[in-house]
Amino acid sequence: MNVNSTHTAGGRTGNVLDIISRYRRSDFSARGKVTGNGDEMDTIVAGLNALGEEMETKLLSLRENEARINEIMDALLKYTLMDFSKKLPISNKGDELDAIIVGLNTLSEELESKMQQLKQSESSLLKRTEELARSNRELEQFAYVASHDLQEPIRMVSSFLQLLEKNLGENLDKESKEYLDFAVDGSVRMKHMINDLLAYSRILAGDQKFEQTDIATLLEDVIDNLHENITESGAKIVFEDMPRAFVDKIKLTRLFQNLIANAIKFRDKGTAPRIFVKCEQRPAEYLFSVKDNGIGIKKEYLEKIFIIFQRLNSREEYPGTGIGLAECRKIVDLHHGNIWAESEPGKGSVFYFTVNKYLK
Ligand code: ADP
Repeated sequence: MNVNSTHTAGGRTGNVLDIISRYRRSDFSARGKVTGNGDEMDTIVAGLNALGEEMETKLLSLRENEARINEIMDALLKYTLMDFSKKLPISNKGDELDAIIVGLNTLSEELESKMQQLKQSESSLLKRTEELARSNRELEQFAYVASHDLQEPIRMVSSFLQLLEKNLGENLDKESKEYLDFAVDGSVRMKHMINDLLAYSRILAGDQKFEQTDIATLLEDVIDNLHENITESGAKIVFEDMPRAFVDKIKLTRLFQNLIANAIKFRDKGTAPRIFVKCEQRPAEYLFSVKDNGIGIKKEYLEKIFIIFQRLNSREEYPGTGIGLAECRKIVDLHHGNIWAESEPGKGSVFYFTVNKYLK
């Protein structure tokens, strides 16, 4: 805008002062008239006009930049909320802000495609987990039904075989007697396996009932249950510092019973079992251990023994079905813990397991 001017010195001075005062208010649109007579006032007015023009351009560019920075901030805010859809316009000024915008656009594109991939793999993982859980449930159901329904026929086979043995006992030749013995032996073993399998699948099928439990009392019960094995083997069982813990009492009893029964069973013949049960309190869990002085386990089998039906020793020497430790692992899983063993053949084994302190 041209500020009116008069050709009188006072008028021109007033005009200049007016322009300056507008500039001070950041209004750089005012322009003075250059008379063309080349006096000092003309020089001042021309200088002021040039300054006004420059400042107006700068101000415009500043405002533009401010708008671009706001857009960048807006996009960054969205990125923090995992929304990478916003792409920023490039001004083509080729300035630093353009460089930042190009970088951000590339970054957001990459993150957007990564997010997409993540979402896809998350959903396929979820699907797979669901499938696994379902097939697991089916297998558990199958194990339960099979072991339950097999109980009756195997009981029949076993008792008829025994009757046959009793009735024919005297009249059988040596070879037939041996065959019959094998058959009786096999049916008895199968009965044990089916019983153990049924107990195992009951653990999988049943609900958890967590309650405050005095572990020392629970161990006394286990020792009572194993009374025969203990007396027969001369085992000594020591436990100390047992806590009161929130656990499924029946299942934890079974877990300790399996571990202590194994510690007695896999003893070095001729050495009475010495068994120490301990508990270490950790911030979020209890670490229990059952230590024995038995035959021990080779390092390469320390993980395999927790797999169902896995056994390392001959049936004749150490009878069993190979389900006990698989059952222990299931019970520990239900208590959100871990189970593992450390051992040295000929020296003994320590079985460790943890129980989460904050079970619901
Ligand atoms: P089972 O006792 O019926 O054989 P488990 O599942 O309880 O089955 O144990 C699997 C195998 O792990 C056993 O057959 C045995 O070889 C080994 N094992 C378990 N506990 C001990 C132990 N305390 N000392 C040595 N070996 C053990």
